[in-house]
Amino acid sequence: MGRCLRLASFSEDSGSARRTFLSAPMSECHQEIARWIRPLEVPARIDAAGNLRAVYPAAQAHAPRLLIGSHLDTVPNAGAYDGVLGVVLAVALLEELRGRRLPFAIEVIGFSEEEGVRFGAPFIGSRALVGRLDKELLGVVDSQGVSVQKAIEEFGLNPKEISRAALKNDALGYVEFHIEQGPVLEKLNLPLAAVEAIAGQSRLEFTFLGHANHAGTTPMHLRHDAIAGAAEWISAVERGAQEVSGLVATVGKIEARPGATNVIAGEARLALDVRHSSDEVRTRAVDNLIRQAREIAARRGLSVQENTLLSQHAVAMDPFLVGEIEQAIIKTGCKPLRMVSGAGHDAMIIAEKVPSAMIFLRTPGGVSHDPAESVLQDDVEKAIMCGLHLLDQLASSPEFYKRTNRA
Ligand SMILES: [Zn+2]
Repeated sequence: MGRCLRLASFSEDSGSARRTFLSAPMSECHQEIARWIRPLEVPARIDAAGNLRAVYPAAQAHAPRLLIGSHLDTVPNAGAYDGVLGVVLAVALLEELRGRRLPFAIEVIGFSEEEGVRFGAPFIGSRALVGRLDKELLGVVDSQGVSVQKAIEEFGLNPKEISRAALKNDALGYVEFHIEQGPVLEKLNLPLAAVEAIAGQSRLEFTFLGHANHAGTTPMHLRHDAIAGAAEWISAVERGAQEVSGLVATVGKIEARPGATNVIAGEARLALDVRHSSDEVRTRAVDNLIRQAREIAARRGLSVQENTLLSQHAVAMDPFLVGEIEQAIIKTGCKPLRMVSGAGHDAMIIAEKVPSAMIFLRTPGGVSHDPAESVLQDDVEKAIMCGLHLLDQLASSPEFYKRTNRA
């Protein structure tokens, strides 16, 4: 936990933590981690996408590898544990092996970019590992007009070598420790969970159109109030999500026009976010909400249009690894829990090529993306124990080696 706080001190802002893709503090962060692992005789390198990579050797040469990691970039005004804890725990696991070699190598990965803060495009680091840091993404520019490609060059790396950052055929699996960033584990009084899926996500924009008119002279029965229609639909969104297990649906933004106290709104524009681990459940929920919006609009003499901005499918974690994590949690003396991650993570990208799974740690108060973000020391200790059990289980599992990866 001290190491997490130390890394949080490498920041672009004074007084708060912000470390975006290939900023100067990211370099300090890399150097600090390299210092930690030097006594283990594990050299750290930075690949062309700015990811920190360090391979702890296997008992024999040419053995396959298990990947363990998370991201090193942060949001503005960040806490100390989101992402960073997963990398620090990977280093701690290498230390706890105390020189013991396993039948597989362990590659620690500190992803350069997950949050999407600098370029508005998330997962730049993990996309390089699955071969998806392409020309289009390299051309995306930040608020200063600096492209991803230029940022890589300015950091002293060579964009031409990005293809060499991609995973080879020797990756057996990817495991990511991450704080839950939500209230579920705390509510259940559990320290750890195995993540079995990362939820799919739909984002839509709805526009209710009515007639703007005078708030004093238009009787109630002669109105076509866009905000009132939108409000009825927002209640339907909340009710609909409450009726389906695991479904979350949010209207997080509403804009009304003309937007004056004494004018009935002629237009209300809303943003809808819907998530579920089943794509079928999610798309059915979205279809229902669209139908309800049309019914409500028709009954009130309004019209409604919707526009889909994002429809991202759910990503299942690898059932074998999830089962092994669950066993490791039990061996640590904790009650196991399987849960769905409502937020996206690097594991979702790496899962395209390599069997992947995640371990969540309880997040006090569910608070994240805030300086108040924290973890409990006892939970971190249990996470290390769980990780060591997992390594032992995988080391003695013939099934783990039989599994050919999809890289
Ligand atoms: Zn994160």
